[in-house]
Amino acid sequence: MTLTEIKQALAANHLRPLKSLGQNFLFDQNICRQIVAWLNPEPGSAVVEIGPGLGALTELLLDLDIGLTVLEIDKGLAAYLRQKFHRFDNFKLAEGDAVETLHTVPSASCVIGNLPYNVSTPLLVSMLELDPLPRHCVFMLQKELAQRLAAAPHSKEYGAVSILIQSYYSIETLKSLKSNVFFPAPEIDSVVLRMDLKPGTPGFSPEERRAFYALVRRGFSQRRKKLRNLIELDSDRRAEELSVSEWQELYRKLK
Ligand code: SAM
Repeated sequence: MTLTEIKQALAANHLRPLKSLGQNFLFDQNICRQIVAWLNPEPGSAVVEIGPGLGALTELLLDLDIGLTVLEIDKGLAAYLRQKFHRFDNFKLAEGDAVETLHTVPSASCVIGNLPYNVSTPLLVSMLELDPLPRHCVFMLQKELAQRLAAAPHSKEYGAVSILIQSYYSIETLKSLKSNVFFPAPEIDSVVLRMDLKPGTPGFSPEERRAFYALVRRGFSQRRKKLRNLIELDSDRRAEELSVSEWQELYRKLK
């Protein structure tokens, strides 16, 4: 969608971008096309889009031979999307908070989204509770979160969410974006990132993944403290000093 189309669609439907829902609409057509190309879903596969907004990515995804379910919380946008895409047989809309609805839609091999910044972390955590896990994801995220997801041990960005995601996914940062490709322009920088399910992941069930994340969060609850003061482990090391696989071993030992 062009900037003019976005403004017209908002005005015609008596909508205005809500900061509280992270509504910054992408209007650079080339970037939209690139993001969809990076996902590159297999023909016939099931794809979920989180936060479709006015459908900038949705309209490109619907041209592919896939089944698409979009998850949108905003009632006004959901009504607009229903109207815009109702003629597509491969389009389904789940209205509501994607943190909740993600579990209710049929499992998808791919997930894509220009994620609302304020709930990106809960959305990723809730995606990690799906069974089976999606194989490929392309997300647009706040730069700081993208850095945390890809962070290495001993860095200040390395934390519980880095360990949860890296246990399952390899992460590739694809592109940094300036705020002037969005309407309205956000005050933050964005990054497009691809996540691919690693072969030979730890094989925890969704409940185990939740418990694993809870353990790691406890370990990071006070970064400067030694682990012996935070979890059931007699160690002088701090949470940020353990690698992803060491955290997995620790979880297996303690569970
Ligand atoms: N995909 C569109 C684009 O690229 O232009 C819109 C992206 S905008 C950054 C984020 C979208 O996520 C908005 O449409 C917003 O209403 C929606 N959203 C915010 N919180 C949500 C939630 N908890 N569940 C589902 N959608 C949400």
